[in-house]
Amino acid sequence: MTTFVHEFDTPMFKGKVNFPTGVYIDGKFSDGGSKTTIDVVDPRNGKIITSVSEATPADVDRAVIVAQKAFDTVWGLNAPGSYRGKLMHRLADLMEENKEELAALEALDVGKTFRWAMNADLSLGIDTIKYYAGWADKIQGKVIETTTDKMAYTRHEPIGVVGQIVAWNFPLMLMCWKLGPALACGNTIVFKPSEFTPLTALRLASLITDAGFPPGVINILTGRGPTVGEAISSHMNIEKLSFTGSTLVGRKIMENAAKSNLKDVSLELGGKSPNIIFDDADLDLAVAWSAHGIFWNQGQACSAGSRIFVQAKVYDEFLKRFTVKAESIKLGDPFSEDAQQGPQVSQQQFDRIMSYIDSGKSQGATVHTGGVRFGKEGYWIEPTIFTNTKPNMKIVQEEIFGPVGVLIKFEDEEDVLRQANDTMYGLAAAVFSNDVSRALGVAHKLRAGTVWVNHVNQVHAQIPFGGYKQSGIGRDLGEYAINHYTAVKAVHINVGNVRI
Ligand code: NAD
Repeated sequence: MTTFVHEFDTPMFKGKVNFPTGVYIDGKFSDGGSKTTIDVVDPRNGKIITSVSEATPADVDRAVIVAQKAFDTVWGLNAPGSYRGKLMHRLADLMEENKEELAALEALDVGKTFRWAMNADLSLGIDTIKYYAGWADKIQGKVIETTTDKMAYTRHEPIGVVGQIVAWNFPLMLMCWKLGPALACGNTIVFKPSEFTPLTALRLASLITDAGFPPGVINILTGRGPTVGEAISSHMNIEKLSFTGSTLVGRKIMENAAKSNLKDVSLELGGKSPNIIFDDADLDLAVAWSAHGIFWNQGQACSAGSRIFVQAKVYDEFLKRFTVKAESIKLGDPFSEDAQQGPQVSQQQFDRIMSYIDSGKSQGATVHTGGVRFGKEGYWIEPTIFTNTKPNMKIVQEEIFGPVGVLIKFEDEEDVLRQANDTMYGLAAAVFSNDVSRALGVAHKLRAGTVWVNHVNQVHAQIPFGGYKQSGIGRDLGEYAINHYTAVKAVHINVGNVRI
């Protein structure tokens, strides 16, 4: 079986990692059924870092069997919430102890800066596990009175074996968003990370063992979407599927669920979020947050504020300051002390983004700044701003998932609301204004699952996150996610001994 041994010797992190990279089933690592491997590529230079075992549909079957056994014996209704919470707290503590190592792996695998991996991915990931650890012994039903002869109570029971499949842009953080509520509610898990970024999931597997989770409760399969992802979403004994990824694949997941056992599905999908700047906004604040909104994480955020609407009166001034900001972003090695932007995750994503840039140009939009590769190797793209766009252009309608923002001028509230809501997506939005009535009025009329006022891209474990329209179904995070991982049972009692 493969292992990953690597010595980090960087300005931000020094240390050695050494962990198995097989499939993690029943608390043990082994080779995937295919005995083949998947290469993991360094986005800084396109070189292979290591290889991980490639799981197969037969591995999914193996994982479901042990997950079901764990559910029926040591987890589910057999494990009190306080016990589940204790193990989850232990896992969070181990993540905290190994935070730098996990952040370094994330930076290496995804190309995100080490600094942001620490401050965002790891911090929010750990917070999420702790938050749901707190929930584990507080998941309760209700007593419902009907007549004097009759009462009922509800139990919020775990569903059983759940499947979870996630994207590559925040690998470990998304994993924590999925594991947290599922474990707190008592489900067992078959988890698949993206084949592009499997490293932190595998490192976490060792920490899951160290935290003392019974074998079979969490199983991690490093495999490809069309094989392992398909097998998970089509499995007859997986009763719940939670997915984070593209709208295209989300559609497929739902189809697989419908064609197999009608498993419950929640989907966190793509976005094309409007970022709205009114003429009464604090312009410096709006410029700084808007740059964060679209350029943070190399623009690879589902909630990226990629359509930037600016009111006519301040458009020219905003464009001037926003351009200065975009051009000041320091591109560089994710492990250097001053880098603010690393490479895109893969050659495939690099090519996809560049083809959108070409499409914008050929449809008549203007590249105001950027639009080109940075460096001679690896997948860096300069922060890019398009102007002179038209509403039907591909770069205005479709999710680019890279550091590419389109600037659009608007006249008034009615105009911007019409344009902002003119999309199949509805994940997030941001409004910048110093008039609280205007900001909240617009926030309430935007068709989006999250609206930030005077900031953007800030997510907390306690606050639900998810999409309207084709950006998804259901919510991750907060109390809302608990509902997705419990089945409600009503127990009716004949208190009055009524006879029929
Ligand atoms: P993707 O849909 O290509 O892949 C996501 C996951 O699905 C991967 O693990 C992949 O292996 C798996 N997969 C692929 N084909 C499959 C199939 N046929 N059956 C089952 N599983 C399959 O997305 P991506 O490129 O990894 O991630 C980018 C997308 O994720 C963007 O659209 C982004 O907006 C979205 N995203 C959404 C959120 C959110 O919370 N709404 C968060 C992060 C990313």
